[in-house]
Amino acid sequence: MNGYTLFRRYPRLQKKLPFVSLGTYPTPIQKLNRLGRALNMDSLFLKDDGLSSETYGGNKVRKLEFLLGQASKEKVKEVLSFGYAGSNFTLASTIFSKQLGLKCVSMLLPQPNATYVRKNLLVTFYWGGELHCCPNIPFLIGYSSCLCLYYRIMHGVFPLILPAGGTSPLGVVGYVNAAFELKEQISAGKIPEPDLIYVALGTMGTAVGLMIGLHAAGLKTRVAAIRIVNSRLVSDGTAKRLLKKSNEFIQSLDASFPNVLSAKHNMKIRDEFLGPGYANFTVMGMEAVRQMKDLEDTELDGTYTGKALAALIDDAKNGFFSEKTVLFWNTLNARDSRVPITGFAYRKLPRPFHRYFEEDVQLLDRSSLRFANPSNSEE
Ligand SMILES: *Cc1c(COP(=O)(O)O)cnc(C)c1O
Repeated sequence: MNGYTLFRRYPRLQKKLPFVSLGTYPTPIQKLNRLGRALNMDSLFLKDDGLSSETYGGNKVRKLEFLLGQASKEKVKEVLSFGYAGSNFTLASTIFSKQLGLKCVSMLLPQPNATYVRKNLLVTFYWGGELHCCPNIPFLIGYSSCLCLYYRIMHGVFPLILPAGGTSPLGVVGYVNAAFELKEQISAGKIPEPDLIYVALGTMGTAVGLMIGLHAAGLKTRVAAIRIVNSRLVSDGTAKRLLKKSNEFIQSLDASFPNVLSAKHNMKIRDEFLGPGYANFTVMGMEAVRQMKDLEDTELDGTYTGKALAALIDDAKNGFFSEKTVLFWNTLNARDSRVPITGFAYRKLPRPFHRYFEEDVQLLDRSSLRFANPSNSEE
């Protein structure tokens, strides 16, 4: 199983799509025996996209292979990436841009404080990322326009603006491929065809790409997409529109790719595990993080994957899974960033980011506090 599965199946896409190879595939599938036993499930599996690349894993790698492929093709010098302060996407954009000789400018919005926010800010900075703190979206848009113009004057080309979370019809193709990759792993006997995939739902690229790919690959697997952002951004309607646009985009490049509009029935958006809002940790989410760590020695997080696993655990407790094969899709980076993070390193960051280091992290994150700093020295 070498090479890029989707391109082997649809060679015309390889000719037409911009692509740079950043990842290592297939990502492993593993049976979760201990967690399965605890939940009374015989057939619980993990698809570990945490290991999607050697440097930095997680679900943004599959999208960036296309988005940064576009950046290379257009010969830009900079890319602009948006997110919240602890964004895994802007961090991934920074690392892989740097590997390709591009500069990544991150425009970051405020978010609830957490240990991973500190870590991601420092790692982004360490990789040479340019960080800008934006108090709100109108400011972000105005400021980004000015920066684009500035770089245009300096370097003769506008930066490429990456879609938020890496989600656009082009970025979605990465997860269409992931479903074809899963299909090959099913054929190879690594896992029976799953009845259900549990995955976190943010900008929707991961879940929608999987829906398209599962349907196109002829799998009957359904997707439980656990919403971790507010409903204003993500709903059945927005998911359907993204699915339609992405499907049309792929078909415009290769007419032999199937029409999968009926695939929208493959996904159910789950709203009950968000809690107070984006990046606000929940008791159920953190309990899920703890169980995965204790039983399977796998790290999850409070913003995305913990909430997704909380949904799976809750459904298991309600007895929804008798005899079913369930696949938990890990979207969180599992590679160690190996960046020296010491007490005062944060003072090199632009001033507005210091508050994430000087203020406490949210209550449910306290036990996982790992980065000592003066205001948290009781840790
Ligand atoms: C970005 C992210 C998600 C959300 O993926 P979308 O494709 O935006 O829905 C899920 N999990 C982790 C760990 C992420 O960083």
